Amino acid sequence: MSAAETMAPDVLVVGGGPAGLSAATTLRELGVGRVVLLERDTVVGGIPRHCGHSPFGMREFRRILSGTRYAARLEARAKDRGVEILTRHSVLSVQDGAVKAVSPDGPIEFRPRRILLATGTREASRAARLVSGERPLGILNTAALQAYVHLEKLAPFRRPVIVGTELVAMSAILTCLSGGIRPAAMIEPNARPTARFPFGLLPRLLGIPVHYRSEIGTISGKGRVQEVVVRSEAGDRSIGCDGVLFTGAFTPESALARLAGLPIDAGSGGPVVDAFGRTRDGAIFAAGNLLRPVETAGWCWAEARRIAGSIAHDLESGLPARQATIPLRIGAGIKLVLPQEIDRRGIGHADLPRALPELQLRLSERLRGTLILSASGAVLWSRAIASGPERRILIPTARLAIPPAAAELTLQVVQSKAP
Ligand SMILES: Cc1cc2nc3c(=O)[nH]c(=O)nc-3n(C[C@H](O)[C@H](O)[C@H](O)COP(=O)(O)OP(=O)(O)OC[C@H]3O[C@@H](n4cnc5c(N)ncnc54)[C@H](O)[C@@H]3O)c2cc1C
Repeated sequence: MSAAETMAPDVLVVGGGPAGLSAATTLRELGVGRVVLLERDTVVGGIPRHCGHSPFGMREFRRILSGTRYAARLEARAKDRGVEILTRHSVLSVQDGAVKAVSPDGPIEFRPRRILLATGTREASRAARLVSGERPLGILNTAALQAYVHLEKLAPFRRPVIVGTELVAMSAILTCLSGGIRPAAMIEPNARPTARFPFGLLPRLLGIPVHYRSEIGTISGKGRVQEVVVRSEAGDRSIGCDGVLFTGAFTPESALARLAGLPIDAGSGGPVVDAFGRTRDGAIFAAGNLLRPVETAGWCWAEARRIAGSIAHDLESGLPARQATIPLRIGAGIKLVLPQEIDRRGIGHADLPRALPELQLRLSERLRGTLILSASGAVLWSRAIASGPERRILIPTARLAIPPAAAELTLQVVQSKAP
C-alpha cells in the first residue's frame, strides 16, 4: 500500500485487541480493499496478550490456547489477510472524519471512509474508587499484574489484598499463584462473590479469606504497601500485606468516542449503537468491550466479525438510513441493554443481517423473577430468570413484532416473592 493509500484507507480500525483484529481480518476477507489497524501498544493482541492462562480460541481456532498464543494467532491471521497493522500509533482524536494519531515518527492524520473504534475496556483505578491513604509501591490493576507475571516474569508483590470478586479476580488469583504470589485476603462490598458459581468458590478452596460487606478504607506503607484498613459494619480491621490489587469494576475505554461527540450510554459506558454496530455518526462503528463491560474475548471476536459485515455492506451498497428509534425504558436492577437504538425495521425484519441480533442485557444485582419486554403495555417477550451481574442475558429480536402504534418499549424484571 502506498503512503497516500495508507492515510486514506477504506476502513481504519482503532485498537488491536480481539475485536479490532477480528473485524479488520473479516473486512479483508469480505473484499474490502484497504484496511489499516492502529494500536498504541508495541504489539497487537489487546488484553489476551497479557493472559498466560487458557481457555482462549475455541470459537476462533477450534482449540484451547493461552491468551498469549491466541493473540499471536489473531495477529498472524490478520497479517495473512492483508491488514496493515501500525503499532505504537496512539489515536488522539476522531473528529469530522479525520483520525489524528501520534507515532514514533510524529503526528499523523488519516482520512478513512469508515472508522471502527475497538478500544476495549479497563478496570477502575484506585483514584476512580476514591481510596485514600499513602502512595506506596505495590498498587496495581489485574492487567498490570498479568503483564508483570506473564510477560516480564516478575512478582510485583508477595502477599497482596485483592479488591473485588468478579471473574477477573478469580483469574487474578491464578495469575498470582503461577507467579509464586499468595493473596492475603479479598474484599467484597456485597454479601457473596460476584463471580458466578462455581468460580466464586475458588478463594474458599484455596483458603484465602474473603471479607464480605466490606470496603477498602485506606492504604498505608513507607516505600511499599504495608497495611490496608478494611471497613465494614462491624468496624475497621487492619490487614498486613505488601500490595493491593484492584480488580474488575470495568469501564469501556470511551475517551475517543466522547471526543468524537458520540452519545455515550449511561448504562454501558460505551457509545450508543444500533443493530449494525453503527454509532450516531454513520461513518463510525464500535465493537468489542468498548460497547460494554465486559464480555469474553471469544464473544468480542464473533460480534466484531458481524460488525465488520455491516461495515462491508455499508461500503458496498449502504446500510438503511437511521430511522426514528423507539425509546426503551429499563427497570430497576437492569444495568445495561444494547443495542440502544432500536428501530422497527432493525428489530422486527431480518431483511439484512444484524450484527447485534439480540438485545444484550446485564443486571446490576442478583435477581430472581420474570424478565418482561413490553410495548406500550403489551407483552412481547418474557422469560423466568435467576441471574447475577456476571451473566449475559439475550433476547432474540428477529421475531419480535413491535406494534406500529407502540410509543415505547419497557424492559423490567418482576421479582418473585420470597417463599
Ligand atoms: C484485566 C482484564 C483481564 C481479562 N481477562 C479475560 C480473560 O481471562 N478471558 C476473557 O475472555 N476475557 C478477559 N477479559 C476481557 C477482555 O476485555 C476481552 O477478552 C477482550 O480483550 C476484549 O477485546 P477488545 O478488542 O474489545 O479489547 P482489548 O483487548 O482491550 O483491546 C483494545 C486495544 O485497543 C488499544 N487502544 C485503546 N485505545 C487506543 C488508542 N487511543 N489508540 C490506539 N490503540 C488503542 C489497546 O491498547 C488494546 O490493545 C479481561 C479484561 C481485563 C481488563
